[in-house]
Amino acid sequence: MSRPTFKRILLKLSGEVLMGQGQYGIDPETCDRVASEVKAIVDSGVELCMVVGGGNIFRGLAGAAQGFDRASADYMGMLATVMNALAMQNALEKAGVDTRVQSAIPMASVCEPYIRRRAQRHMEKGRVVLFAAGTGLPFFTTDTTAALRAAEMGCDALFKGTSVDGVYDADPKKVPTARRYDELSYDRVLADNLKVMDASAVALCRDSDIPIVVFSIRDEGNLAAVVGGEGTATIVRK
Ligand code: UDP
Repeated sequence: MSRPTFKRILLKLSGEVLMGQGQYGIDPETCDRVASEVKAIVDSGVELCMVVGGGNIFRGLAGAAQGFDRASADYMGMLATVMNALAMQNALEKAGVDTRVQSAIPMASVCEPYIRRRAQRHMEKGRVVLFAAGTGLPFFTTDTTAALRAAEMGCDALFKGTSVDGVYDADPKKVPTARRYDELSYDRVLADNLKVMDASAVALCRDSDIPIVVFSIRDEGNLAAVVGGEGTATIVRK
């Protein structure tokens, strides 16, 4: 089956993408490279919004394992996503892309609060909206945030940029014979517990009929290729 083309998309990047070759934090060069790839998409007329994770700075589960209260640790993780959103906003604006950051946890002197209809207007005007602070609720993830915002914004697809070029039947970094899927159903992902996104995110996409396109953001130019219906990726849909 041929891949559909898209008018409005949500791009989800894990915080780790922003580390570049580093082990922690934000690599400005990587932000600039991602920004130039996003600019190419926006210039082609596709409306784009983004969710960036926070795992390069702080993850709630890891914090809880160290003895922090889980909910507090999750709020720390959500704040980490705000830092990443601001870093990406900076890189995008430098590249000449109009942006707005909207946070699920209001912080008026830093960015806009999340307001769905306002975010939609921004997108209609060609601005990239970066959704920060996850859902604003502990015990959730930015994958679930991405699925939720994609549904709220009426996105045609959720693009999940990872370090591998799709979904495999085993970890391709450990198993050389691992096979990449071109296409998968939501139910198969859930039944086989395939590592695409967490289960609540996959279920939300299934219920809203939003395809998930898993691709490598590390391969330069790949974002434009997959958004254009080419390039290597796995598409999860009905
Ligand atoms: N988080 C949360 N609620 C949300 C989204 C995120 O509590 O709705 C917290 C959670 O602690 C998570 C951290 O923020 O570990 C960073 O997000 P995530 O782990 O999803 O980032 P990624 O793995 O994509 O970098």
